[in-house]
Amino acid sequence: MRDAWVQEYSLLVLAAGGGALIGAVFEAVLAGLVLGLLIYVLFLHLRLGRLLRNSTGHNWASPPIGVPGAIQGRVRRAWRRWFARQHRLIGLLRRYHDSAMSIPDATVVLNQKLEIEWLNRAATDVFGVGRRDRGLRIDGFLRSPSFGEWLRQDPFDHVLEIASPVDESRQLSLRLQPYGDDRMLLVGRDITALQRLQAVRQDFVANVSHELRTPLTVLAGYVETLNDMADEFDPQMRRILLNMQQQGERMRRIVEDLLLLSRLETTVPQESQFEDVPVADLLEGIAHDADLLSGEDRHVIAREIDPTLRMRGITRELQSAFSNLVFNAVKYTPAGGHITLRWRLAPEGRVFEVVDTGLGIDRQHIPRLTERFYRVDVGRSRSRGGTGLGLAIVKHVLLRHGGRLEIESELGRGSCFRCVFPEKLESSTLSYKFNNAVMNEP
Ligand code: ADP
Repeated sequence: MRDAWVQEYSLLVLAAGGGALIGAVFEAVLAGLVLGLLIYVLFLHLRLGRLLRNSTGHNWASPPIGVPGAIQGRVRRAWRRWFARQHRLIGLLRRYHDSAMSIPDATVVLNQKLEIEWLNRAATDVFGVGRRDRGLRIDGFLRSPSFGEWLRQDPFDHVLEIASPVDESRQLSLRLQPYGDDRMLLVGRDITALQRLQAVRQDFVANVSHELRTPLTVLAGYVETLNDMADEFDPQMRRILLNMQQQGERMRRIVEDLLLLSRLETTVPQESQFEDVPVADLLEGIAHDADLLSGEDRHVIAREIDPTLRMRGITRELQSAFSNLVFNAVKYTPAGGHITLRWRLAPEGRVFEVVDTGLGIDRQHIPRLTERFYRVDVGRSRSRGGTGLGLAIVKHVLLRHGGRLEIESELGRGSCFRCVFPEKLESSTLSYKFNNAVMNEP
């Protein structure tokens, strides 16, 4: 820019000086000076005119000299940078758009009124919506009642599994994600293959367990018969027989628990199975069994049970879940420890709680306790007759009852296992499926 100013002043001096010199020849210096200045102003006017015409940056004609030329140069460079940025941004947008279009999950952008604003290719495949459907409501395409119910409930927190409206044999997992001020992203994933795989795995486990049941019963029968004749054997043989009986019993328990678990996982609870459960009576029976299990250990088992509080549920399943928790408290609480069973109505719903003063569980284990065969201490679990499946059973029973399991524990101080059944207790397939989808184990 400095050069431009030098050029500009040189022009001025040249025009004024030249005019004055020529004026001096005619003995009219002042008139010559004014004329020179006029010529300079005229030239400046011409150059500013060119600058104005070129200011859009599209005209790449050679720039005028002096300051207008320098200004034009600057404008041109700014335009170039702006163009390059635009180009880059357009390229970036195009790449984003292309990648969003080719995401294998069906993706639809919805506004607050649930109207479709944008969709990718997979959405056409999976939801049956096309570009021409922009502006139409998504529930006009996903007509399943469970979709409507899901939207009315709390869709941002739960995953919904439904059949694809295009092909009933395909299962979709839907997620709704709010973003920006008033937009939502609906993402549909085809989980048909995953579900098939899960079904194969569940069938396999169920079949194996079922197949093992009969030979195990036969073997256990023989071992029992041999045990009855124990007097005829030497002490070592008696020990072996006792061990065989214990291991046989352990295998039987594992098989029974696996069969129960697979039934809980694979069947949807029917309304007809639900009845009015007298929970207090149920817990009294469990507490009595817990006293027997405690035996010589003489745990103090306190009951704080509301005798009038009942709930709708499947008695056999609740019995299984509650007894697993109570027996765990006995198994993992040293002799003489305190165990409290509580059944009460709380603000969050009906609550069954087992509090013990036992070993407690380190924090890191708590999120994994309901996984099949997850044990904090395998040796202790086995020695106490555990199968590692108890809490998995509890979790599934609670899911089928619209409930949840909360675990609080402190190492060395004790644990609290709490089953919460929210007031709005429905055995609806929908809520079962929601939770199942969220809480499925790896
Ligand atoms: P298990 O048959 O081994 O008891 P569970 O699924 O019932 O299997 O429990 C899983 C693990 O959780 C147990 O192995 C134990 O380590 C831990 N656990 C369960 N309940 C308690 C409790 N009340 N106190 C301490 N640890 C517990």
